[in-house]
Amino acid sequence: MMFILYSAILAVLSYALWSWLKRTLYVHSFLKARSEGERLSHEYAQLSAKNDDLRTETAGLQRDLEQTIAIYNITKLLCRSLDTERVFINFNEEIKKYIDVEKCEFVRTHVPQELYRDHIILRLGIEKDTAGYLVTKLSKNEDAEKFHILAQQFILGIKRAILYQQVQELAITDSLTSVFSRRYFMERFKEEVERSIGFEYNFSCMMVDIDNFKNYNDSYGHLVGDAILREIAKTVKENVRQIDLVGRYGGEEFSIILTETGREQARFVSERIRQAIAAKPIKVYDEDLKVTVSIGISTFPYDGKDIIALIDSADSALYKAKQSGRNKVRAFGDPA
Ligand code: GH3
Ligand code: MG
Ligand code: MG
Repeated sequence: MMFILYSAILAVLSYALWSWLKRTLYVHSFLKARSEGERLSHEYAQLSAKNDDLRTETAGLQRDLEQTIAIYNITKLLCRSLDTERVFINFNEEIKKYIDVEKCEFVRTHVPQELYRDHIILRLGIEKDTAGYLVTKLSKNEDAEKFHILAQQFILGIKRAILYQQVQELAITDSLTSVFSRRYFMERFKEEVERSIGFEYNFSCMMVDIDNFKNYNDSYGHLVGDAILREIAKTVKENVRQIDLVGRYGGEEFSIILTETGREQARFVSERIRQAIAAKPIKVYDEDLKVTVSIGISTFPYDGKDIIALIDSADSALYKAKQSGRNKVRAFGDPA
């Protein structure tokens, strides 16, 4: 009987011990799992924060990359030209690919700030030399920062063009056409006036202007325009003597001094130049372009006693040549 009682108590105790052990083990593993869960969820929160950071960083890098590509493209394009007008045309075309621009103008004169309150106005120049102002209106204000970054490349392009012009002015020859630069031509022209006064010689001054040159630039592009300028300069030089002076007076205007040459002789030489140019088409791609020039003549000392008066007289003769239908030669004093 006692044995049965002990056995029952032992069984109950064993069961209780087993139950306690099971619960303890269960609670322990539950607590372990919970702390593991907490650790994982903490780790997840950290990873997810890191992911957000990376996403923002990637978006920033993407923006920087787009900006760098834009800067690269704009710089590459602006490097192709050393003419301020052309630099602006290229910039104006390119910037619209990256920014919504309402208005972008290259203005030569001073721009009153009060009239352009909602515009971005950038001065373009080196020290005191101002080539003009870039006046821009953006569609969205938030593009302002990006615009300023891209506009920096334009400012550099303009500076390069201004420096080139300054170097060009100091140089003796014009790099495009290989005739004398304007500055050097004017110096030699002045010397010729002084020499002719001393020796009582006369000499003639000619202004040669390409007819409708703008049309060639517009239809075929500036590179073709440049090729035409080179060809015309070559033909002019082939038709004057070695002692004569040929200069590039302006964009598409050449000036010539025929030393010790009177009006009628100068008319003869001018006609020869005009005819030589008209008779020799300039090959461009598959086309033969017919280019003509108009020429105005003035003769020292009759039409002017200094360089300014002589240029004025040759210019007004040139104007008459243009008025008479272009591809013409006119001397100062000729009837219209
Ligand atoms: P006109 O017969 O009355 O002289 O007409 P035009 O078109 O020749 O005269 P206009 O003065 O209107 O145009 C001159 C053009 O010459 C405008 C300018 O873009 C261009 N030009 C000036 N310098 C250069 C240059 O170095 N290269 C090229 N390609 N074009 C130039
Ligand atoms: Mg002209
Ligand atoms: Mg012209």
